[in-house]
Amino acid sequence: MKNLIRGLALFGLLAGPFIAMAQDTKFGQLGQELPTPNTYRTASGAPGHQYWQQRADYTIKVELNDENQSVTGSETITYTNNSPDVLTYLWVQLDQNIFEPKSMSNITQTGTLQDRMSTAAVEHLTREAFDGGYKIRAVKDRNGKDLKYTINNTMMRIDLPAPLKPKQSYTFSIDWFNFINDQKALGGRGGYEYFPGDGNYLYEMAQWFPRMAVYDDVNGWQHKQFLGAGEFALPFGDYKVSITVPADHIVASTGELQNASQVLTSAQQKRFADAAKADKPTLIVTQEEATQAEKNKAKGKKTWVYSAKNVRDFAWASSRKFIWDAMNVKVGNQNILAMSYYPKEANPLWGQYSTESVAHTLKVYSKHTIDYPYPVAISVHGPVGGMEYPMLSFNGYRPEADGTYSANTKYGLITVIIHEVGHNFFPMIINSDERQWTWMDEGLNTFMQYIAEQEWEKGYPSRRGEPANIVDYMKSAKNTQVPIMTNSESVLQFGNNAYGKPATALNILRETVMGRELFDHAFKEYANRWAFKHPMPADFFRTMEDASGVDLDWFWRGWFYTTDHTDIAIEGVKWFTIDSQNPDFVNAQKREQQNKAPQTLSQQRNLQDIKRTRLDERPELADFYNKYDPLATTATDKERYQKFYASLSDNEKKVLDSGLNFYEVGFRNLGGLVMPLIVRMEYEDGTDEVVNIPAEIWRYNNEEVTKVFVTEKPVVSFTLDPFLQTADTDLSNNSYPRRMAPSRFDLFKQNRQQQPNPMQQQRQESSRGAGNGNSGSNR
Ligand SMILES: [Zn+2]
Repeated sequence: MKNLIRGLALFGLLAGPFIAMAQDTKFGQLGQELPTPNTYRTASGAPGHQYWQQRADYTIKVELNDENQSVTGSETITYTNNSPDVLTYLWVQLDQNIFEPKSMSNITQTGTLQDRMSTAAVEHLTREAFDGGYKIRAVKDRNGKDLKYTINNTMMRIDLPAPLKPKQSYTFSIDWFNFINDQKALGGRGGYEYFPGDGNYLYEMAQWFPRMAVYDDVNGWQHKQFLGAGEFALPFGDYKVSITVPADHIVASTGELQNASQVLTSAQQKRFADAAKADKPTLIVTQEEATQAEKNKAKGKKTWVYSAKNVRDFAWASSRKFIWDAMNVKVGNQNILAMSYYPKEANPLWGQYSTESVAHTLKVYSKHTIDYPYPVAISVHGPVGGMEYPMLSFNGYRPEADGTYSANTKYGLITVIIHEVGHNFFPMIINSDERQWTWMDEGLNTFMQYIAEQEWEKGYPSRRGEPANIVDYMKSAKNTQVPIMTNSESVLQFGNNAYGKPATALNILRETVMGRELFDHAFKEYANRWAFKHPMPADFFRTMEDASGVDLDWFWRGWFYTTDHTDIAIEGVKWFTIDSQNPDFVNAQKREQQNKAPQTLSQQRNLQDIKRTRLDERPELADFYNKYDPLATTATDKERYQKFYASLSDNEKKVLDSGLNFYEVGFRNLGGLVMPLIVRMEYEDGTDEVVNIPAEIWRYNNEEVTKVFVTEKPVVSFTLDPFLQTADTDLSNNSYPRRMAPSRFDLFKQNRQQQPNPMQQQRQESSRGAGNGNSGSNR
């Protein structure tokens, strides 16, 4: 604001030509990056008129052995070839094989040795191998004849006796056995937990049966090996699953229970019917009943039969420790059962929050995508921190043994349930290829999770979604980042890359680039177009543009195909006002400037030291110029001005008299991402104004641009991105004049929680105060 420049011709300023090299690198349309549209997938991002997908229907019988923690299963798969292609073999996924000691996942683990290592780390390197993986006992055709098969790590090829032609189905069966992993020791997306307090097991069964791989128009067979990070690609189908477990177990499962009268007591059946009409969580199995079951292990067995329609997977959980509650949720015209299954160790937290969180998720996600189409939605507590399946999810977070919990545990639980139940939409219904693209389910789901969290309670502590929260990742070392468009198994900084960054990118699209109305319509359109189908990245990118009329190629290019970040700086501001040429005004201004001009050091000293000048001593040396005031307005000056003014048109006079301020603001793109410029101008009188300039301002020059702002009131400061909308990584260069911004380090220190469990602390304090040592475990 120091550049007070006068004497500039007004019309020159307004008509100044803008000269820059045309540069469309960052605004070029996505060409080679996207596949060529065809009859299966259109250029608009919708399924094409010849879109097809395969189908796999399953009938499965499985028995859980609670003595040695294993399962024995047999399944019949009917595979329908809806493709235009003839298939000579089928690929089946054997995900349990990741637990084989010599699995590709195990032997490709990288590692380093240090001079000093913890005993746990050494144990990890030397631990005795778990005898995991499928023992395939038979692969037969529908007549019981053996089929030729080849196992390649986590994939199995079954050679067909005769080619499978388009529109034909093929039915075959697989028998298998496998030990279940101890989830707490070995990790995994499923597994068992042993509770030493009562000697019981809780099983969460995932990737537990050989599953058909996807054959599609983009990849052919998707049989990239399962290494642990890349999740699953699965076709839709109907399932009928009979699960045999100890007679006192409660089984939670994908689908609807078919034989309630055989597995539930009449009291439980009555409560189940009541819960289906309840508008709050209602118990079907109480804590007292579950605690009782823990003590008397039943000898017999029971078979629970579940049926699920149009799902891409099937999971279940089983334990005699389960408490079970349910409530009704109405979405559209459909009544859905929201349910939770959890051991007493999860209370009081789970009884209060789990089923409510399930219900909340269904409501919010349905509003933004499609109405939840399944009859049930379930949250199960066990060893797994968070994992999703159709209709059913596994969620971690449990309170302390005394029933208290930290804020982190409470919000962690609500968050994970929203997230895992939310996965019903992405990828269980909008069925993307998780083995290839993690962001298509995790990113979209985390974006929706943020919206659902904010609708749970005001000020909900969302970890992801807000642009400011992704800044640390965006400015992390570039050799620790890969573009979002990277295969799942090769993603670095997994949570930030595949969850946080895409979720934030969508939030920025919604709030800043597109606006809520255009974004919400396009996002819902994507969900509707691809529900119960297999979308690819291009289908999402294209649909978001097609339905909104907003060119987003620059955004996908920057945020999804590069590791650039946002850092835009205000480089400088030049302030122009109009030279009115009115001599009275101009001269007064010049005199004011003169008076304000600083005195040099010599001038200051001379004023002190030189007591008398020669002129003081000899006044006769003075002439006309010693009295002449060059800033005094003369009659000639006035006459000249009046002539000039009379020569102007009415419009020109108006501009000349306006007293407008012109600011030329220079912006520099330091981070690489071209982004909208959100500029706040604060005026001399304390008021302010915010101007939003679309990212297209960068289309001629991706690195530096200048923009002229015209204001009536003088501006005292310019601020870029005042509401933290763009994940700008350096706020210290966002103001003019410059302002000091607190460092991220300071913010981190301020936000750090001092008391991890104030609930426990307060309870201990009050029990001490009451002279009562009883910690009052509330199970
Ligand atoms: Zn997830």
